[in-house]
Amino acid sequence: MSQQHSRRQFLFRSLGLSAGALMIPSVNLLARQKGQGTIPLIITSHSNETGRKAMEAGWEVLLGGGTAIDAVEKAANIIEVDPEDTSVGYGGLPNERGVVQLDASIMDGKTYNAGAVACLENIKTPSSVARLVMERTDHVLLVGQGALEFARAWGFPEENLLTGKAREIWLRWKENLSDQDDWGAPEHLIELQKEEAYWRDFPDIEHHYGTTNVLAVDAGGNVAGITTTSGLSFKLPGRVGDSPIIGAGLYVDNEVGAAGATGRGEDVIKSCASYYMVMRMSEGRSPQQACEDALQMIIRKYRKVNPDFFPSEKFVAINKQGEVGCAMMKGARIPLMSVMNEKGYSKYEGTVVVS
Ligand code: ASP
Repeated sequence: MSQQHSRRQFLFRSLGLSAGALMIPSVNLLARQKGQGTIPLIITSHSNETGRKAMEAGWEVLLGGGTAIDAVEKAANIIEVDPEDTSVGYGGLPNERGVVQLDASIMDGKTYNAGAVACLENIKTPSSVARLVMERTDHVLLVGQGALEFARAWGFPEENLLTGKAREIWLRWKENLSDQDDWGAPEHLIELQKEEAYWRDFPDIEHHYGTTNVLAVDAGGNVAGITTTSGLSFKLPGRVGDSPIIGAGLYVDNEVGAAGATGRGEDVIKSCASYYMVMRMSEGRSPQQACEDALQMIIRKYRKVNPDFFPSEKFVAINKQGEVGCAMMKGARIPLMSVMNEKGYSKYEGTVVVS
């Protein structure tokens, strides 16, 4: 088996509200329950501390009678500017040349409008640029230099997005890329043949994917969502994933709910997974069922060509009633997402579809 092949396999394996609601209670794990939704509601696929802070910020907007679109933007910005998060915004892992290229989309159910940016460099908050594409142009998607010029025109400061941590991970990846070049310390190739040594040194980085979805319903029943990411790490320059593609990495329908995707974007694009989830919900499926349905749909297609291949994806969904869902294609751990509603903050336990 070639090194390239084994690396690939590794990738694949591998308002009537009490003010007290803003006081975040201790984290409780929310079991999957049907029919228990309340609005307003905000969720994110991030279940870490930054995800929790993002939920607090988004909840503050909702609690003050703000809109779902303002809440998701405020929450997403918190995750985007976190330098420790290697999957989104500032601090995200770069492409193969060491350049951080960000993708983001936003959709407003109330206006049925959407905006997105792809391959955006040097701007920490791509979801806010996407919002301006949605609100200040008649276009949906701006890419690369055009997206950067648009952001500059709106006064976004340009900054180097490559943190020291992300740079080191990228350089370790380069060192281990090939035994045909002079990258890396003399002993590294022997190590590489044993296992992906560079990865072992960064235990908090679970895999080469990572994105965040933020979805909300406000007190007026309007739905909005954002998906934002640095995309597949070490990608080919110019590669665009599912996150900025409306219908793939994000979809919102004000009469139904919203859905978002993380994981291997190529499969999400081909399956229009977020649109599919929202359509399943419009047919009466719960958000949880819709997430599982979408993953099963992708599995069915792959089973025909490679029974052992399971792309790595995690889907999240909410409906207008405030019910939530989360499911993952495959994994050793139960997928979690952050939920904030009048009951406070909780981590929702999703399902793993292929065990
Ligand atoms: N879906 C993103 C992409 O393919 C990456 C991820 O969610 O991990 O760009």
